[in-house]
Amino acid sequence: MMKLPEAIEVVEVGPRDGLQNEKTRVPTAAKIALVDGLAAAGLRRIEVSSFVRPDTIPQLDDADAVFAGITRRPGVRYSALVPNEIGLDRALLAGVDEISVFTGVTDSFVRANIRMSVEDSLRRFAPLVARALDAGLLVRGYVSVAFGCPYDGEVAIGRALDVTASLIDMGCTEVSIGDTIGVATPGQVARWLDEARRRLDTTRLAMHFHDTRGTALANVLVALDAGIVVFDSAAGGLGGCPYAPGASGNLATEDLVWAMSGSGVATGIDIDALCVASRGVAEHLGRELPGRYLDSCRKY
Ligand code: MG
Repeated sequence: MMKLPEAIEVVEVGPRDGLQNEKTRVPTAAKIALVDGLAAAGLRRIEVSSFVRPDTIPQLDDADAVFAGITRRPGVRYSALVPNEIGLDRALLAGVDEISVFTGVTDSFVRANIRMSVEDSLRRFAPLVARALDAGLLVRGYVSVAFGCPYDGEVAIGRALDVTASLIDMGCTEVSIGDTIGVATPGQVARWLDEARRRLDTTRLAMHFHDTRGTALANVLVALDAGIVVFDSAAGGLGGCPYAPGASGNLATEDLVWAMSGSGVATGIDIDALCVASRGVAEHLGRELPGRYLDSCRKY
């Protein structure tokens, strides 16, 4: 029998990773309602937005206003993606609890996203991470395309672990390992985490799966068995990846919560309240969200 923990930590990435990758720009008030609705549903970690230059990601050009508009709940960690010093200044003013920095395993993918090589991104993030830690923030690193890249194909585990180790050495309090395009398989995740255990402190890792080929939840189970207890997901399966043609949304938070609750793994999340929050934002997207639980609830 597979090992299951008593509880997992769910990191809700819908408002940032999700909305960044939706074609439609959601109004600021609806974003605030989404974040507050997620916190009310029991999410204790929410990535709210991204302090990038407003013209680079128009969907998230209102990060300051969203932070100013949300109602902070005690015990909830509100985070934001930060690409540079100016972004960190804005994040500090907004009162974030945690920042995240975004890189990946392959130069082609990282260049397409942030216009620099992997090595350059790590060099650039080191002083940023140090400053954020000095300011008392938590820092999360993202390792995107850790299992497969839309440009380079399958990714060597050793190379992915090098990038992960660099982020941990830099002081990142957590590193999220991303299957950005949703090509990872359970066997691959098991091998990946097996090698990771030999090189790193895997208690610092979170896993970030996409459901492009229907393997996200199976990958979660394999990761649970390997001792991982932090998982990223997005309300209703928001998002996709503009640099990853064909990638569908993130693992839907409802699907993760449903699978865990039936398996005796606590998430602290009220699935009905979560669906209300997801449906609220879906009204502004002009499309049905792909989450399976959410979709099946519509039908009966
Ligand atoms: Mg994602």
